[in-house]
Amino acid sequence: MSTPGAPTPDTTPSSDFDQAVEALARQVKGVVLTPGQEGYDAQRAGNQTGRTHRPAVLVGASGPADVQQAVVFAARHHLPVAVQGTGHALGAVAADGGVLINTSRMTGLRIDTRAATAWVAAGVSWDQVIHEAAPAGLAPLAGSAPGVGVVSYTLGGGLGLLSRRYGYAADHVRSIDVVTADGRLRHVTPASDPDLFWALRGGRDNFGVVTGLEIDLMPVPTLYGGGLFFDYASAREVLDTYLSWSAGMPEEMTSSLAVISFPDAPVLPPPLRGRHVVHVRIAYAADDLSPAKDLIAPLRALGPFNDTVRELPYAEVGTIHNDPPVPGSFESATALLGELGPDAAGALLDLVGPHAPVPHVVELRHLGGALARPARVPNAVGHRDAHYLINIVSRLERADLTDIQPAHEHLVQALAPWSTGGRALTFLNGRRDAEHVRSAYEAEDYRRLTELKAVHDPGNLFRLNHNIPPATPA
Ligand SMILES: Cc1cc2nc3c(=O)[nH]c(=O)nc-3n(C[C@H](O)[C@H](O)[C@H](O)COP(=O)(O)OP(=O)(O)OC[C@H]3O[C@@H](n4cnc5c(N)ncnc54)[C@H](O)[C@@H]3O)c2cc1C
Repeated sequence: MSTPGAPTPDTTPSSDFDQAVEALARQVKGVVLTPGQEGYDAQRAGNQTGRTHRPAVLVGASGPADVQQAVVFAARHHLPVAVQGTGHALGAVAADGGVLINTSRMTGLRIDTRAATAWVAAGVSWDQVIHEAAPAGLAPLAGSAPGVGVVSYTLGGGLGLLSRRYGYAADHVRSIDVVTADGRLRHVTPASDPDLFWALRGGRDNFGVVTGLEIDLMPVPTLYGGGLFFDYASAREVLDTYLSWSAGMPEEMTSSLAVISFPDAPVLPPPLRGRHVVHVRIAYAADDLSPAKDLIAPLRALGPFNDTVRELPYAEVGTIHNDPPVPGSFESATALLGELGPDAAGALLDLVGPHAPVPHVVELRHLGGALARPARVPNAVGHRDAHYLINIVSRLERADLTDIQPAHEHLVQALAPWSTGGRALTFLNGRRDAEHVRSAYEAEDYRRLTELKAVHDPGNLFRLNHNIPPATPA
């Protein structure tokens, strides 16, 4: 894909180029690797195993100075830059022939319990922050899988298990340390550079390589949460009840419903093995948890065959979705939806469950509440009027991509009457064509982002991503 404003990458190895790589390796404290060298394969691998980076140069950065060296090197050699934290969205970036900066060595984390904030380096994943903040009764705005990287999730929006109460993770960023295309390391705050601060929170990797973030922590030592599992035979009743139930819930209740086709795998507990189920996930966070039992009573009345909902420490928040922590390859599709009623439930259930063409997890995440309000310091995360997000995931170990993609598309199309037209950036994964990227933003925000891109990255050095191209002069 060629991108306006992008110089042609020169990836032809030459002795000059090789010497430049050797010079880079002397300047960098971490590692510099090229194809075929020991460690190259391990450093380019991520949690998503479906696709593989093949960078011309891989820099395992030990800190911001290494990131600066890598960015300056890439700019000098007209090579695009990609970044990898934990590699949960690796399919989105495939750094073929570019410079890949792996941040997994950058694991610094400082918790300020008095200010209820954390400073998090680029390679940190949520489980580390959850674990370190818990003794002070504090909680970060993590998502369903604690193994996901903090920086990418947060700057992409970040839809978490406390989201209806507190909003997007991107709404709770205080400052950002970022290496921009000119190789400068900047400490960006709402006061120092309001435009760049706005753009980074939502525009994610289009404006630089973020080396650290300062984020808010919330006073949530415990919540009432877990999962209710229903046999697929009662899917219609459960979905209809869930839709009317969720629409009336207070902001303290964040929930989702997933139709899951579990593989017949020995790692799974017998009640789930090879079974089609409906999984309702509950996360109720409030100063007083006592109303929670009554609130979920209408769902319990439907007779789940397994019920793990209980008062649980926030440190165990990853057990609510129980996303598999092991690497795997997957394909996904997503859309933001408006209000849903029985018609939408029927359209969905026509295409999921035992009769679906490919095994999948199809989840509906309930939005609204604080997600519907703009951030206190505005950012580029939009589409706040959506009521639900649908996320469809199939693992490539269980079906061919050629079967998965049309099945996902069919489902998205069937729900088109309820679609807002928008999508959430953190759920786009490998879909990075212009139409998908634009759909992650409000039209006016997208225009402003292209203009800021022209200021901060006119050569589109950061284009191995969900790319926002620089605006061309009128
Ligand atoms: C199992 C699973 C569960 C998930 N649950 C949720 C959820 O509940 N809510 C939600 O909102 N999302 C969720 N996601 C999506 C997740 O937030 C995105 O895939 C996110 O981009 C993953 O970030 P990473 O660092 O872990 O992955 P990576 O693949 O390492 O990074 C993804 C992209 O982010 C950019 N990036 C990474 N580090 C930096 C950096 N330092 N500076 C600039 N750009 C950078 C790069 O372009 C990179 O390609 C989930 C994903 C998975 C696989």
